[in-house]
Amino acid sequence: MRGVAVIVLGPARAHGAGAAFPAGDDLAEIVGESAPIQAVKALVRKVAPTDLPVLVTGETGTGKELVARAVHRLSGRRAGPFVAVNCAAIPAELAESELFGYGPGAFRGDFHPRGYVRAGDKNVLIDTGASAEVMARYWPGEVRDVTSFEAGLARLGLKSEDIDVVIQTHLHFDHCGNTHRCRNADIYVQAEELRFAESGHPLMAGIYDKALYAGTKLKIVEGDAEILPGIRVHHVPGHTPGTQAVSIDTPKGKAVITGFCSTLDVFNPPPEVREHTPVLTPGIHTDALKAYDNALKVYRMADILIPQHERAFAYSRENPE
Ligand SMILES: [Zn+2]
Repeated sequence: MRGVAVIVLGPARAHGAGAAFPAGDDLAEIVGESAPIQAVKALVRKVAPTDLPVLVTGETGTGKELVARAVHRLSGRRAGPFVAVNCAAIPAELAESELFGYGPGAFRGDFHPRGYVRAGDKNVLIDTGASAEVMARYWPGEVRDVTSFEAGLARLGLKSEDIDVVIQTHLHFDHCGNTHRCRNADIYVQAEELRFAESGHPLMAGIYDKALYAGTKLKIVEGDAEILPGIRVHHVPGHTPGTQAVSIDTPKGKAVITGFCSTLDVFNPPPEVREHTPVLTPGIHTDALKAYDNALKVYRMADILIPQHERAFAYSRENPE
């Protein structure tokens, strides 16, 4: 087994002493002249040129990242990027692939948002995802491992004509790419979303395509509404003008599919940010303030949060009970 070099930082802040260092010091960013700091610097200089993995430990605020940066800068990898990863923010089952990468097929599902709910005798889909063909039209070269709509439904013992209800969280192509295949379904969409999708706004026209839902039985919703017992839509504009979140009453509490494109990171900001804003504004939006306000609304409303682009859910075939 390969060895691991360990650098332990003491409680004194590595960058707190403020003494000036002679020009040309290769570790000038680690400020301090005490014996422990000198020992840390000596160890950095010793391990940096080697190929050993280096574990830097120490309490919060002792300068672990500063030391890690110094190790990187003095190492043979200095020409490559220094990547800081907040491991606490990565779900455990994704940690390995997040840190060390993954090959094709590493994930069981695809990330194209669609979810299935059985409600009484009704088969309900929240969005319909997109086929590989539709994805390739928008992201050439980046499409892999896309489960076909029919194959996805077949796993549940269903065909596209068995779908009774589709709730469109919004009409971006990757959310309604298979909707036209659900010939017997009522398709619930916010009035505001349909208006915007068909307005052909020059900045957004490219990610909407009428053909994907043409000829379907559209049911227009204005604002919040109960679609089936225990299944409600909530108008949460921001990502798009007509985005709707979907809440489902379950024995474990209210599960909310966010509707806006996001991952769990949105609801899990770093501690220093969380103090001021408990959620982050999702990256893609037509109105940043509404996107923030409604991310917060969804966060407060949900017992179980289901951000639609969260990779962790690609592992699971089960909806939360
Ligand atoms: Zn979207």
